[in-house]
Amino acid sequence: PTPLLEIADLHTHFDTADGEVRAVDGVSLSVRPGRTLCVVGESGCGKSITARSVLQLVDSPGRIVSGAVHWAKPGEDPVELTGLETDGEQMRAIRGNDIGMVFQEPMASLSPMYTVGAQLSEAIRLHREVDPAEARRIGVELLERVGIPQAEGRFDAYPFQLSGGMCQRVMIAIALSCDPALLIADEPTTALDVTTQARILDLLKGLQRDTGMAMMFITHDLGVVAEIADDVTVMYLGRAVEHGTVEQIFTEPKHPYTRALLESLPTMDETAARRPLTAIRGMVPHPQNRPSGCPFRTRCDFAMPGVCDVDAPPETAFADGHQAYCHLYSSSDERAVPLPAPTV
Ligand code: SF4
Ligand code: MG
Repeated sequence: PTPLLEIADLHTHFDTADGEVRAVDGVSLSVRPGRTLCVVGESGCGKSITARSVLQLVDSPGRIVSGAVHWAKPGEDPVELTGLETDGEQMRAIRGNDIGMVFQEPMASLSPMYTVGAQLSEAIRLHREVDPAEARRIGVELLERVGIPQAEGRFDAYPFQLSGGMCQRVMIAIALSCDPALLIADEPTTALDVTTQARILDLLKGLQRDTGMAMMFITHDLGVVAEIADDVTVMYLGRAVEHGTVEQIFTEPKHPYTRALLESLPTMDETAARRPLTAIRGMVPHPQNRPSGCPFRTRCDFAMPGVCDVDAPPETAFADGHQAYCHLYSSSDERAVPLPAPTV
């Protein structure tokens, strides 16, 4: 089926005193209707900026330099979001009606000055012509839907009177108030304790089942990916390095970076517990010191001199939409050797 959201060769740069930083450097990815795409990578890989670029919410001095974001809601004409005026009516309508967004810090997203209900009602009345009493009824119902007990009373509470997990549920209720076809969630559980994190993931999965909305879920945590993803895009230094279904990524990772991420994952498995935790060697280079050729080559155990430092790795397509960008798989290069079997 046609992707609901398709990002094609997106470049989002920041003009800094030290020069231009290419935070997003040619990302392509797509979200299919009704499915959850997890965008995973270490901090600084450009995943949040990619998400914000979709909604044209990149803060200055950042700007989308090139590329396209195609939005194709079933039954409506496709729109190229990058072609819309950043704060124009059409972009605001899409932000308010079609695509909801939830961020990492619920406390920072809610205003401390207004009650939860006031903020929820405002969101509801932005896209529905209802009187305050009706907005309250819908708001309380939404709070109940996101699992807030005593919703009627919590409607009149201030954010500081609620826990971080409750505030994140409020943010999810606000995002759902427009009945979005796509929910973009940027590390929505990272600031929460493990138990609350698991409950919020369950909530999101349940809401997705009930509403059929798609999700683009940004995370650095492969445990979260295993829990919630249908599809996965792995990002490194502003680029996508591998795309696949969650099964493909976990059982047949192709890119050395994906492999390294999986190998650094602690497991509950007995034998694995005896294996020392492996972190990926070296550090992510600063985007201003982007390596030539393959962005991962400074940390890659399989880097081929004269190849990986020279050319950007081409796309290789494997079974059913599984793709990776790595010279190891370019059949034209006789120095390319297949990767040994994964150890996870
Ligand atoms: Fe490693 Fe080369 Fe593949 Fe990059 S292109 S991931 S350096 S083998
Ligand atoms: Mg981030």
